[in-house]
Amino acid sequence: MAQGYLIALGSNQRHPVHGSPRGVLAAAFAALDRQGVNLLGASPVMDSAPVGPTLRRYANAAALIETRLDPDDLLDHLHTIEEQFGRRRMGQAWRSRVLDLDIALWSGGAYAVSGLTIPHIHLRHRTFVLGPGMSLAPDWRDPITGLTLRHLHSRLTRPRPLP
Ligand code: ATP
Ligand code: CA
Ligand code: CA
Repeated sequence: MAQGYLIALGSNQRHPVHGSPRGVLAAAFAALDRQGVNLLGASPVMDSAPVGPTLRRYANAAALIETRLDPDDLLDHLHTIEEQFGRRRMGQAWRSRVLDLDIALWSGGAYAVSGLTIPHIHLRHRTFVLGPGMSLAPDWRDPITGLTLRHLHSRLTRPRPLP
């Protein structure tokens, strides 16, 4: 059965062929439209401030895909794509990387088996995922809070009164 996923893309390293992080993400969108995966939507790419000890800037985006792959098989597939882009899984998380592909949301709802958690645990706190995600699927609801991507994004970005 075809399943829908929202994928969060990130890059903060140049690639010898694809060039800047923006070029990497453009190539990654193409890679997400092959081998049993259909790319239904690609968000604009946004530049974000770096997270963690690396000082490079990130390019972030989101992709809406459709596939018959289950969550675990899709994660394997995403890891293969990351490796094709030259990423090596060694050392700490957060280190600079050519390409990071996370599963943000799944049409099947919530999933938590053997180290894979959907929705992604940081989904609700990351404007660099919610912003691009909202541009593709504003009414998609987080199964944990019941809130739409639009709502989650505005919760993070709206001005707040002083206490
Ligand atoms: P962050 O999770 O903060 O975005 P990261 O993407 O840099 O950090 P990675 O080193 O790429 O972290 O991945 C660490 C592990 O997270 C992976 O081995 C993967 O199994 C696991 N993981 C759990 N949930 C997800 C998810 N929804 N999407 C992608 N990976 C996930
Ligand atoms: Ca990530
Ligand atoms: Ca990741």
